[in-house]
Amino acid sequence: MLRRTDLRAHPLPSTTVLRGLLPRTETDVDAVLHQVRPIVDAVRERGVDAALEYAERFDKVRPSGIRVPAATLRGALSALDDGVRAALETSIERARKVHADQRRTDIVTTVVPGGTVTERFVPVRRVGLYVPGGRAVYPSSVVMNVVPAQEAGVESLVVASPPQAEHGGLPHPTILAACALLGVEEVWAAGGAQGIALLAHGGTDTDGTELEVVDVVTGPGNVYVTAAKRLLRGLIGIDAEAGTTEIAVLADDSADAVHVAADLISQAEHDPAAASVLVTTSDALADAVDAELARQVPETKHSERIRTALTGPQSGTVLVSDLDDGVAVVDAYAAEHLEIQTVDARAVARRVRNAGAVFVGPWSPVSLGDYCAGSNHVLPTGGCARHSAGLSVQTFLRGVHVVDYSEEALRDVAEAVVVLSGAEDLPAHGQAVTARFRS
Ligand code: NAD
Repeated sequence: MLRRTDLRAHPLPSTTVLRGLLPRTETDVDAVLHQVRPIVDAVRERGVDAALEYAERFDKVRPSGIRVPAATLRGALSALDDGVRAALETSIERARKVHADQRRTDIVTTVVPGGTVTERFVPVRRVGLYVPGGRAVYPSSVVMNVVPAQEAGVESLVVASPPQAEHGGLPHPTILAACALLGVEEVWAAGGAQGIALLAHGGTDTDGTELEVVDVVTGPGNVYVTAAKRLLRGLIGIDAEAGTTEIAVLADDSADAVHVAADLISQAEHDPAAASVLVTTSDALADAVDAELARQVPETKHSERIRTALTGPQSGTVLVSDLDDGVAVVDAYAAEHLEIQTVDARAVARRVRNAGAVFVGPWSPVSLGDYCAGSNHVLPTGGCARHSAGLSVQTFLRGVHVVDYSEEALRDVAEAVVVLSGAEDLPAHGQAVTARFRS
């Protein structure tokens, strides 16, 4: 079922060439930028009116307002199924444990006696947390966005999620319930590019309430959401581009084909554009995984979507000569999720440089990380794992440098400042120092 790329004939090419050989559709975000730009512009110019028009067009419903009433949030939590509530509580508890450990303490460096530089980690004031709700609904993404923001100490947060036609223009009730469970009081019925633009530009709700702009927008979403984040970056801070889901599995012949196939399917279930990539040293495993996919896919609920994802150009099997080449290939690919299903998986995992998250050995499937490992599931896609990290407490903190020098400490270094300001032909810089010592 998976298209094969065989890289065993020659030594591996350079990373640049290798990236071009691997199964990935790089251009999808670029390809929709021209569609998304008018949406972002319309929301900047006409605020809520424009957002509601786009909701009508894309979500097939026009919400009566953007802000979800507090009573609706409370009602959704009371109506939440007990089993789902308990599972969400497990997910929240584990995520909180991990993210609480990510908190930073200020770093004070005494550069010279009387001269210190402190890096103070200050949370951004207000954030917009996007929770997808197109093809699937993601209460888990509420947990993954909200917990790190809360643990970072963010003062004000708003969750935005698409309005649902079958729920009267409100976001999905499970999303509302998850928000209430986490103590989130502000939720907007706004999705897609228009939702991101509204977070960045703000507006006035249908009842006259101000929808206040945010400083940072985080959260996963489809290609339109990702394109809007890319267009608005600068006006707002964003997390990594967490677009359409990807899984890569690095496996040798010790891997269990049933597990590998199930894991490839689990991520293909998100989206017909999702990517599932097997990198293996073993023809036998590649054949067995194909056979398993043929057996398992028809049994899954979203088999059409999964088949489209698995047979698309973004998915495939890559055959490599040995695990050294396998590590080079997964590094070049830089998957959002990378599973290591090999002999001595921990040692192999330690050699991987580029991945949003690494899942080690047979008992750490990606779906554990999607919900209940404690790790974050908002992770960089499209190769962004080469330079960006997944969502964490750090996403919501900025290191502010605080410079505190005494008179003596400044006097000691004054000459160097004057010389450097002269070298840059900016003498007023030097004079700002010497003026202090003239009398
Ligand atoms: P979504 O909320 O991201 O997108 C739905 C919105 O897309 C709609 O509200 C609509 O406004 C907009 N839209 C739909 N068609 C459009 C069009 N033709 N033009 C402009 N806008 C349009 O929900 P989704 O579609 O289910 O996508 C969720 C995505 O998030 C999936 O691809 C999934 O793989 C991904 N995901 C990624 C991560 C990660 O960390 N990388 C985590 C969870 C989910």
